[in-house]
Amino acid sequence: MNDWQDRPPPPREFGGLRLTRVPKGKAVTGIITCDHMVGRDTHFQHRRTVPCTGKATCELCEKERPRWHGYLSICSTHSQNQCVIELTELASQTVIAWFDRRGTLRGTRIHAQRTGNFDNSPVNCILEVTDTDLRTLPESPDLRRFLQMLWKIGPEHGNGRDVPTPRPNVTTPIVNKPSTSTTNEEIPDTDEEDFT
Ligand SMILES: [Zn+2]
Repeated sequence: MNDWQDRPPPPREFGGLRLTRVPKGKAVTGIITCDHMVGRDTHFQHRRTVPCTGKATCELCEKERPRWHGYLSICSTHSQNQCVIELTELASQTVIAWFDRRGTLRGTRIHAQRTGNFDNSPVNCILEVTDTDLRTLPESPDLRRFLQMLWKIGPEHGNGRDVPTPRPNVTTPIVNKPSTSTTNEEIPDTDEEDFT
């Protein structure tokens, strides 16, 4: 390739996108950009979450039982910056129930906060309807592909994009009051490395 170009190379896929957990004593607030949650069984090794490869083949399963984690892409309420947030199975329940009732998560405001003073204290998620213009909300990254690259695992079940869960019939819209929260804490620095 020519050593000189008329513009810098395009950013790497997912360049700058970070994975974050809810830190103790802080909250993560943002607008969900993905339609649905993506999750799988994981282990915690060398201070990082790693995927479980399946009970029959996973060496880490011999040491500990796998734990399910769910992932959402969220956008700062003040900018177009996105990050991917990791939630435990317990913390995901509110999100999953919301999805089942409404059929999508996109455009919903999420406020996730650790309820105790420990790194592993339970996370409480509050979801709220917003008047976010979905046309201007950034597109969600392909979460499954992002995690595959982060964890350096190949595409599974072919190379297709995320296959969304069939949507439930949404019959009763749930009307929530507009958010009146004045939380200042936005997407915090990650405790995970990104791979740029
Ligand atoms: Zn395992």
